[in-house]
Amino acid sequence: MKYISTRGGGTPQTFTGILLGGLAPDGGLYLPEQAPRFSAGDLAAMRGMQYRDLAFTILSKFADDIPAADFRKLVDRTYTKEAFHSDDITPLKTLEPGVHILCLSNGPTLAFKDVAMQLLGNLFEYVLAQKGEELNILGATSGDTGSAAEYAMRGKKGIRVFMLSPHGRMSAFQQAQMYSLPDANIFNIAVRGVFDECQDIVKAVSNDAGFKAKHRIGTVNSINWARVAAQVVYYFKGYFAATKNNDEQVSFSVPSGNFGNIYAGHMARQMGLPIKRLVLATNENNVLDEFFRTGRYRVRASNEVHQTSSPSMDISKASNFERFIFDLVGAKPARVRELWQQVDRDGIFDLNGTSDLAGLAQYGFVSGTSNHANRLDTIRRVWKDYGVMIDTHTADGVKVGLEHREAGVPLICLETALPAKFAETIREALGRDPERPAGFENIEKLPQRVEVMDADAAAVKRFVEAHSG
Ligand SMILES: *Cc1c(COP(=O)(O)O)cnc(C)c1O
Repeated sequence: MKYISTRGGGTPQTFTGILLGGLAPDGGLYLPEQAPRFSAGDLAAMRGMQYRDLAFTILSKFADDIPAADFRKLVDRTYTKEAFHSDDITPLKTLEPGVHILCLSNGPTLAFKDVAMQLLGNLFEYVLAQKGEELNILGATSGDTGSAAEYAMRGKKGIRVFMLSPHGRMSAFQQAQMYSLPDANIFNIAVRGVFDECQDIVKAVSNDAGFKAKHRIGTVNSINWARVAAQVVYYFKGYFAATKNNDEQVSFSVPSGNFGNIYAGHMARQMGLPIKRLVLATNENNVLDEFFRTGRYRVRASNEVHQTSSPSMDISKASNFERFIFDLVGAKPARVRELWQQVDRDGIFDLNGTSDLAGLAQYGFVSGTSNHANRLDTIRRVWKDYGVMIDTHTADGVKVGLEHREAGVPLICLETALPAKFAETIREALGRDPERPAGFENIEKLPQRVEVMDADAAAVKRFVEAHSG
């Protein structure tokens, strides 16, 4: 399996060749030259598999340059009952016949990002050891990504994490999750500023090619191909759990921000999984809903981004979207380059009146938007009708998913976080505190380690220099 850039530059790369990097050198995103396909016979064999076997079967198609015996060990070490609280890893919960929640948030940080990030931690450690290299991961977070990255990389040989977060702007629970990690290779930097300033610092440091090379700076953002690939697995798991045989179709509803999670669903569908619809749910930041309804992709200025009660979906543009557009325009890099030149210049592209838009229907996407009031309603309704407590992001997905429900087609709503992470909105909706999983009861009382700094790239560089050995 070789990987190419959506913008057509460079030579095809291997899986381990693109694992540690971010964007392709031409500014595009890597994707497989061709999606691997599972035949009806393959799917029949996969139906009875446990999560670990399923993950190995699917992911070895993508990671075919890692020796199978080694890769098997990495997968087995990642998807354990200890880390995810059941051998199912992503169990299916049925609300009523034909409506299900796929529980993706039983990993160490209580959000779906753990499913991919935990694998990434083991893959990075393995590949760095093979190359005899080290990596200093520099990232910015407003919550979920940073903690998932830290819990994936903690204690890993050859890896340090420097994670910037906006000082005093995350929930007490989120701060405690990150800042209480005792591992010597994890460094939390609280920046006096907002999330965008954290992200600007990461960009400024990464744009200093000399510094980046000297200190072996890397990232773990959502465009990383291995993260996307790891997310493909649970679409298969959810499908098999919700159906009795492989002639049935299902639809998935996906709370979306950067288009990473739902793109994995698109990939699963391309690989032969019988998915009818991919229901894309956004919050008030409805860049993607707008595209699927109107054919116009208009990125937002940062002052147009709403701060919402499903904060992990508060985006101005969707960083993985370019991969889908590559497929939509018929795998033509020149067309992708042209569209992103328009985005860079005008902040928008419009596919109306083009042949590209005509092909959209075949991919099965439908979409919708949810707002704060919808979120509260949905949390209340699911609690009252089914006795199940869902978080704010999952609620966006359930709300939009039910709007697109079709008779005879099971609907699987992806749970992207647990309610414990968003206590304030749960109290507003239900008048009570969310349940907290065992081990998290007193997390805010643990000692915390964090370096508070001004929003100054030079200061961050000095800190990395002093601590990257
Ligand atoms: C990251 C995140 C999302 C959005 O996922 P994308 O892959 O960016 O579309 C949704 N919900 C939660 C809780 C998240 O952490």
